[in-house]
Parts: sequence; structure tokens; C-alpha cells
Amino acid sequence: MTKSNVQPTIFELSAPGRKGVQFPKSDVPTADLPKDFLREELPLPELSEHEVIRHFTNLSQLNHSVDNGFYPLGSCTMKYNPKINEETARLPGFAQIHPLQPAITVQGALGLMYETQKWLGEISGFDAVTLQPAAGAHGELTGVLIIRAYHRARGDEKRVKMLVPDSAHGTNPASSSMSGLEMVELPSDERGNVDLEALKAECDDTLAGLMITNPNTLGLFDENIHEVCQLVHEAGGLVYGDGANMNALLGIHRPGDSGIDVMHFNLHKTFSTPHGGGGPGSGPVGVTAELAEFLPFPQVAMTKEETEETLPFYDLITPKQSIGRVKAFHGHFGMVVRAFTYMLTLGKNGLRAVSEYAVLNANYLQALVKDTYHIPHERLCMHEFVAQGHWEDAPGIRALDISKRLMDFGFHPPTNYFPLIIPEALMIEPTETETKDTLDAFAETLLKIAEEARTDPEKLHNAPHRTPFGRLDEVKAAKELILRTQLPEGYGED
Ligand SMILES: *Cc1c(COP(=O)(O)O)cnc(C)c1O
Repeated sequence: MTKSNVQPTIFELSAPGRKGVQFPKSDVPTADLPKDFLREELPLPELSEHEVIRHFTNLSQLNHSVDNGFYPLGSCTMKYNPKINEETARLPGFAQIHPLQPAITVQGALGLMYETQKWLGEISGFDAVTLQPAAGAHGELTGVLIIRAYHRARGDEKRVKMLVPDSAHGTNPASSSMSGLEMVELPSDERGNVDLEALKAECDDTLAGLMITNPNTLGLFDENIHEVCQLVHEAGGLVYGDGANMNALLGIHRPGDSGIDVMHFNLHKTFSTPHGGGGPGSGPVGVTAELAEFLPFPQVAMTKEETEETLPFYDLITPKQSIGRVKAFHGHFGMVVRAFTYMLTLGKNGLRAVSEYAVLNANYLQALVKDTYHIPHERLCMHEFVAQGHWEDAPGIRALDISKRLMDFGFHPPTNYFPLIIPEALMIEPTETETKDTLDAFAETLLKIAEEARTDPEKLHNAPHRTPFGRLDEVKAAKELILRTQLPEGYGED
């Protein structure tokens, strides 16, 4: 990392005449480019190859990532992304094909999509799966549109009410509102489950459905999930499952078996494809047989079974009452290749072990910190748990201070202030890939910070101290975003 206090931009590094590539001498006649398309004033940086490499490598090192440190960001499942996924995604047969090629020329890719649909369906207990949505939130929108289409197809137009528990991720109310449904919030009971009495009171003939996250964002498995689904079904509604927390359930529980009708997966969480800046996401949606005809088109199907003489044939089909297309072409195919690689690498027993270790690691961490940090719902947790970053005898300290201080020790902070129903929430999800040593070191650091909260609160208020950037003004950082890289005065002097 550069030790100056300003990281120059690529334009500042530029010097006329420097080059990263040399084109071979042209052997075709030169032609003039259309003048209208050329911008004389557009400055293009001129740099040699190694300057470009250093610039971007330096920038990449300003960030925390799952490849350089522990990343217990609750609900996001920041698990390690195995590098073999990248190798398969780059195989020419997958990377150098075009979505408009005739099916006969891309049987391998369609076969992989078909198998992924089947595996996801088998893992979660659903009859049909679409791979099109680009993220979890996009899967939610797709699923809620399917629920709406189902009611409309039955002439049941009055069903416009979607119930969303108060522990839900913000995308749930957003998806139901975007679909034109009316969102009604449901409270949680004192064990962190959906409040059954409140649910019963909303079960009438205007009910379109319920969106439930299980395990929920408190890291708790809803103990009444069967009854919740049954109540919604009896009232004529459908149940949407937010599958973002599937990392707790692989090979152990199938949401389709507990009565959920539609559910999205986050391949970039549970199935180890990169998050956010590391690549596009993918949010496949699984449905019951009854809802399969509403899935987006195109859907990959095996149109000819394998025989002794011939291979199976895969093609794209349009479900009968499809809600339409939700994404260009077939979704983020490269992510599907990575996720399928992950499933094949682990197999049935390996996938189950993923969830067993994810749950074990979270409970181990919870046990190490629970005497120091208040855990509002002290039950066995699933793959994550929620603690509170606040103590009565350290009144000035908030969850944010604890998170910022964790960065000084090389840890990514947990999720803060979510779920909204827990004041000063610290939502911790270690994932299955962390060693006992890492978990111990993290817990030890949390205990040390709890001590500092009493002995040296200023240190927490001003943290982080050892990162390229110190404490940011969160409001200003969002409203006056500076996209130019700039290190603070005095950084690296020490
Ligand atoms: C991550 C998450 C989502 C949204 O998924 P994206 O892929 O980020 O759009 C929805 N619900 C829960 C519980 C989540 O953790």
C-alpha cells in the first residue's frame, strides 16, 4: 500500500506516451472514424502495464474481503468462494458461448442449467426452479408476482394483502409493494417466532400470502412453521419463503416440506458465488408443482429423455401461464456454473456438513460471548445469532463503536442495526469455513472490546485507528460520496 496520504487517481498517474500494449503494424487500409462519435476533450489515461497493475492492486488492498480476513456479516453468508468455481466458469464451453446460439450447439450449458434446477429443487423440496432472477430481492419480486398471477388466474382479484413479519429483511416489504400488493407487518412473539394470534387476525379472504424468512433474521428457526403455513393456506393464501438463510438447512430441512409454496435462493450466499463487487448475484426461485406454469420464460427442460443410443436433449420452453421474462436471456449463467460446481464438489453429505458446521460455529461463538454481550433471544441459534452492542454501565457505547473497533483487529464488522426489532443489534454469522482458531480470536477480541468500553471508551468512539480510512461521517459519506480515492492526512506516518 502506498504510504502517501493521497492515493493518486489513474488520471494523475498518466503521462503522455506511456503504453501498456503495442498493436502489431496494421495490414489493412486505415479508415476515418465517424467524427461525431469522437470526443476530443475526453482524456484517456496513458500508463504502462505495471503502473496499471500496481494502481488497481493497491486499490484492492484498501478493502476487506473474504479472501483476506474473517467476514461475519450476518444474513449475508460471506463464506469462502472456492477457486475451483472460477476454473469451471472459465471453461471455453461455458464462457465462450452466446445465449442466442441454437440449443443443439449448447447442450452442455443447458444440461448444466437443467441439473442445477433439479438439485436446487431436491435440496429445498420444490418441484420446479427458475434460474433467471439476478439476486435475492429480484427472486422475491419474481415469487410475489407468481403469487399474484396465481390468484388472478383463479379470478381471486381481491387478494391484495401480503403479511411480512417485523424481523424481515427490508427487501420483503419492498418486493410486495413493488408487485402492487399491500404490505401488513406481523409482530414476533417473545421467543422470536411469528406471533400466531396476530397472524390469525389477518387471515381473511383478502390474504394474498405471507413472506417468511426461516430461519429468521434473529438466527432462529420458527418453531411453528408448519402451523404458520397451514393458517395461511386455510385462508386461501400462499407462503413465500425468503431462502437467504438456507445455509443453516442444507440436507437437514426442506422448506417445501414445511408448506412453503415459493422460495428464492441466493447463490451468492449459500452456494459460494461471489458477492457484490466480486460479480453479479443470482437468485433462483423454486415453486410447488401447482405454481410451475407461472414461472418466467424461458425455462430449461429435458425435451427428450436419454435412451441407450442417444443422449438427452435440453431445450428452452415457455411455461403455460408464465409471468414473462424477468431478466435478459437466461440469468447470470456464470454464477450458475459456479454454484453447480460447488454442489458437485460437496455432494449430498458435503452439503449437509456445510450447514452442520455453519450452525455449530455460530452456536460456539454465541456460547463464548453470551455472558458478556446480551443475547435477547437466548435459544440454540441456527447459522447466526443477534447480540446487543450496548451495556448500561457503558452508556456512551453503541453497536457502531464496537463494529468500528473490530476493524482494528482485522475483522469485518458484523451486520449492525438489523434486524430492526433489536436495539443496537450485532448480527453475527461466522459461516462453516472458519477454523476454531479464528472463532476463538474473534470472540477474544469481542471480550477485549467490551472491557475497553468501560476502561477507554474514547478509543472505541474514534475507531478504527489502523485502517486506511478512519471514522467516517456516515451521513456525509452517503450524501457527499467521493468516488475519488483519497487517504486521510497523516495516514501511514505512525
Ligand atoms: C440478503 C438477503 C436478501 C436479499 O438478497 P440479495 O441477493 O442481496 O438481493 C433478502 N432477505 C434476506 C434475509 C437476506 O439476508
